[in-house]
Amino acid sequence: MRLGIISALHEEQQGLVEAMEGPYKLIHGMREVWLGKLWEIDAVCVLSRIGKVAAAMTATLLVEKFGVTHIVFTGVAGSGDPSIRVGDVVVAESLVQHDMDASPLFPRHEVPLTGQTHFLSDRQLALQLGHATQAFLDTEFAEVIDSEEQAVFALQAPRLHRGLIASGDQFVNGRERIKALGEALPGLLAVEMEGAAVAQVCFELGIPFGVIRTISDNANENAATDFMRFVKSVAARYAFYIVRQFCRELAASSNQASRVSAGT
Ligand code: SAH
Repeated sequence: MRLGIISALHEEQQGLVEAMEGPYKLIHGMREVWLGKLWEIDAVCVLSRIGKVAAAMTATLLVEKFGVTHIVFTGVAGSGDPSIRVGDVVVAESLVQHDMDASPLFPRHEVPLTGQTHFLSDRQLALQLGHATQAFLDTEFAEVIDSEEQAVFALQAPRLHRGLIASGDQFVNGRERIKALGEALPGLLAVEMEGAAVAQVCFELGIPFGVIRTISDNANENAATDFMRFVKSVAARYAFYIVRQFCRELAASSNQASRVSAGT
């Protein structure tokens, strides 16, 4: 296994690169690509930058040039449902490109000639990411996000959600806009700008992928301010501890599998 980890923003990625064992940096396609071991997992970390094209290019590069076999996208997102709060975490079960509309030629949201509106993430990766997230929220969260920060962001017992994430080339920052998206996309949990593009690339290349997003804002009129504060302050720690837990669990299960196959 070679795991590609994509982040959209520098703040989200930094801790992961610092944790890499034997990191090796390459520059390709105007991107810094970091190769190394993350908690025993062979990993490649890269910043996609923002938006669907940037994310699609990054995912393609990871697979075609750097030989990754699995991709995980970590980042922040706006809430797509009033029950989902800043500090909660959403693991994607499926992803849709909310700004794709070639109707009446194709149904709204269908990516032409793929037959897909909703791209499914890999079940196993989604389960493992959900497990790692729950472990983080149950234990490390209280230790690594101090009570002052919890108060600033009103983080009360943050929760894990699984379901639909929508991506588009738009920072959603209006009450009416997020409401309309929710109505057009039943079950919508979060909005962001990259996940569904990575999903399409992985679908076309046959690569298992997962997307995990911490809610940074409510996609309303305050979204830009809330987003900036969240990203500067606590987002990186969520990404770091969840990915660490995820890699440790992967490494433990692959060690166990190799012991079984060696008969020890
Ligand atoms: N002003 C910022 C722009 C960030 S865009 C800057 O200069 O850095 C927001 C990023 O966070 C995107 O990568 C997107 O995936 C995610 N995101 C968080 N909240 C969002 C929202 N309300 N709408 C769309 N994307 C959001």
